[in-house]
Amino acid sequence: MNSISSEDRVIRAIADIDRYSDYNAVTSVFSDVEERAREVDCRIKAGIIKGRLAGMPIVIKDNICVKGEITSAGSAILKNFVSPYNATVIDRIIEAGLIPVAHTNMDEFAMGSTSETSCYGPVHNPLDFNRSAGGSSGGSAACVKLGITPLALGSDTGGSVRLPASYCGLYGLKPTYGSVSRYGLIAYCSSMDQIGIIGSDVRDISELFEIIAEQKKQEVYSISGGVRVAALAGFDKRYDEFLSLIAPMVASTETVELQTLKYAVPSYYVIATAEASSNLARYDGIRYGLKGNSTEQVRTEGFGTEVKRRIMLGNFVLSHGYYDRYYQKACNVRRIIKDEITKLFEKYDVLILPTSSEGAPLLGDSLDNPLEMYKSDVYTVLANLTGCPCITIPCGKDKNGMPLGLQIMGRHNEENLLLALAECYQSRRASYEL
Ligand code: GLN
Repeated sequence: MNSISSEDRVIRAIADIDRYSDYNAVTSVFSDVEERAREVDCRIKAGIIKGRLAGMPIVIKDNICVKGEITSAGSAILKNFVSPYNATVIDRIIEAGLIPVAHTNMDEFAMGSTSETSCYGPVHNPLDFNRSAGGSSGGSAACVKLGITPLALGSDTGGSVRLPASYCGLYGLKPTYGSVSRYGLIAYCSSMDQIGIIGSDVRDISELFEIIAEQKKQEVYSISGGVRVAALAGFDKRYDEFLSLIAPMVASTETVELQTLKYAVPSYYVIATAEASSNLARYDGIRYGLKGNSTEQVRTEGFGTEVKRRIMLGNFVLSHGYYDRYYQKACNVRRIIKDEITKLFEKYDVLILPTSSEGAPLLGDSLDNPLEMYKSDVYTVLANLTGCPCITIPCGKDKNGMPLGLQIMGRHNEENLLLALAECYQSRRASYEL
């Protein structure tokens, strides 16, 4: 199907990484990629592997383990950690004939929304060099926008695939919690961590999801009867373009209010920091990465400010006397949020809502004000707290001309419906832009 060999595509991707190095989107290029591409070319010729993505280069967020390659999660504490094994998703994509070519820059341990907390420095937005590419999978989104690779893997604990995708004018899928193996993903908040996909073409994302998902996609029955859409109140203008383009698939659209939305950010940050403080306890200067005279020295030097803040917050909310007041309470609130969303999906097939209120911020603006940064996650954390699949699509521009995103969230395991809606939107949008 593809006339260009995999080897040529990989060589071009590597050249582009070099050409766009100012964007700081890549942390390391993998070894022997051209040789691997040649092997894939042979397997394609022999008919052993086929499919739309066979022979395609792909970039991988720096918190997904690739055997023999530095996997540092954007942290100085893991700067020299060479992974002894592949994450399950890596094995799967290699088997399907994709070629992982590089690790991408990210917020340290995926904690952030702007890719500025990385020990390698910030990622620049391909649409405006002075702005953030979003986070925490900012390097993955920037690579796709720069055309280095058509697809990238990221991780999404509270929006980290969707936010950078939307800041860069791309599509980003966070699958249902647990539908893609987390084996080999460096843990941040295990009850919400989810590997996801960033791309400029929904059909590529669909195909890759099929490859990495643990189960085959479910048939979607709602499409035949028309989709019942719930639209979060307060953003009518934003939905216009989307709703007009997908109109043939829609049975009804109603505006809804979510009573529990205001509790999403507080409960997310209590749970996420609690789990992070426990997951990060393993970096003790003995087992992985950076070594030093003492655990204290290694952690002091190896962790950045944001990571330290979260470890302290997490330890606090888990400590004796505060556990019930904060951690337990946040878990109870999460249950109440889940109940409201479950009820909503009895009546509607999908919920549409903005990905963020504003487009990409200027670099430097978020770092001084962590609380503001946390609050900006209000629309994305909902899908993680509830485990629901969610896709962001590019829709509209902000006052600075930067792209905005719109999210389509659905019931567990109904990625198919979200992808079908996004694909319909993409194809009709393309023809209307011609
Ligand atoms: N911005 C959120 C946080 O810092 C989400 C990060 C993510 O999804 N990894 O926790």
